[in-house]
Amino acid sequence: MENFSSNNRFRSVFNHDDEDHGKDYVGFATLPNQVHRKSVKKGFDFTLMVAGESGLGKSTLVNSLFLTDLYKDRKLLNAEERITQTVEITKHTVDIEEKGVKLKLTIVDTPGFGDAVNNTECWKSVADYIDQQFEQYFRDESGLNRKNIQDNRVHCCLYFISPFGHGLRPLDVEFMKALHEKVNIVPVLAKADTLTPSEIEKKKIKMREEIELCGIKIYQFPDCDSDEDEEFKQQDLALKESIPFAVIGSNIVVEAKGKKVRGRQYPWGIVEVENAAHCDFVKLRNMLVRTHMQDLKDVTRETHYENYRAQCIQSMTRMVVKERNRNKLTRESGTDFPIPVVPGAGDSETEKLIREKDEELRRMQEMLLRIQDQMHTQKDAY
Ligand code: GDP
Repeated sequence: MENFSSNNRFRSVFNHDDEDHGKDYVGFATLPNQVHRKSVKKGFDFTLMVAGESGLGKSTLVNSLFLTDLYKDRKLLNAEERITQTVEITKHTVDIEEKGVKLKLTIVDTPGFGDAVNNTECWKSVADYIDQQFEQYFRDESGLNRKNIQDNRVHCCLYFISPFGHGLRPLDVEFMKALHEKVNIVPVLAKADTLTPSEIEKKKIKMREEIELCGIKIYQFPDCDSDEDEEFKQQDLALKESIPFAVIGSNIVVEAKGKKVRGRQYPWGIVEVENAAHCDFVKLRNMLVRTHMQDLKDVTRETHYENYRAQCIQSMTRMVVKERNRNKLTRESGTDFPIPVVPGAGDSETEKLIREKDEELRRMQEMLLRIQDQMHTQKDAY
């Protein structure tokens, strides 16, 4: 019997380039490059939502973060119009390219949020929007053409907190509590240039305490591994202690100490957006773009979307079982199940409603079967 060492066996299986001959490896060290090349070719996408009262500097910050003018066509409403305005959701998409890497960035804005006289449940349309994106993804994923699904799920929500209050306002608490299980919330302290450094520190501590006390689950930065070097651990800690990020935005470039910088010019001096001594803008941008974009997407997929999907399947199963029992009962009794009378509706209206309901159930049953099928295929693959 031949006694191959595992290396020899691999050598016989894999075709090596000439330059690899005699080397003691299989070649899978190129896997990261392969994945990298494939991802770069495909491009990346990221959906960021900004929420908070109007005038807190959301659009200015987004423009500063991505060095674009995403709000060219924005129409600002006057006070009278804002009273009656309901929260609407707007979407802007830009393709950004940097060193050959493409990013399709979608910004979802929530104009009108917190502007009305009565803001009860004004978070609802935002929550509905997030659910609709999950629902669309769920439908596409359960459909036949699952290859080119357009993913519009919201990966992160920057929630802007006013610098003028004493900590969180009831609306802030209500919003974050209503959405924390649907989206990664990253709170930011807006217009930080209106506060002194010690005021910023005090506010941050207070807001972190309030967030904890109210049971709000904002986005948690993943713990860094114990074998990471000290510098990395320090950076990680500093990032966690920066919450809520104190941010400053500006759409203009000013001259500070002979250099052109994005900043805000005041009679007493210049505040620089990208100066770490002035605010947390750079920390926030690094977190969003350089270090945590993938984690934000992973948490969206693995936690928030999975929760939605599980709930959906559960309620669909319940409906299908209920329907089966109803049909069984009808067959056993040998009579048609009594048609419910919908108050105010004529016979044909009632029948139409029932037909629609039946059609909805049939679609759900189909979808459920496909999901079960997928689950079996996945299980078999392991
Ligand atoms: P949005 O309604 O939340 O999108 O707010 P805008 O970005 O339109 O900003 C409203 C106003 O606040 C504008 O006059 C901005 O110039 C100003 N602004 C934006 N960011 C800042 C900031 O960081 N500090 C200060 N002091 N003002 C800001």
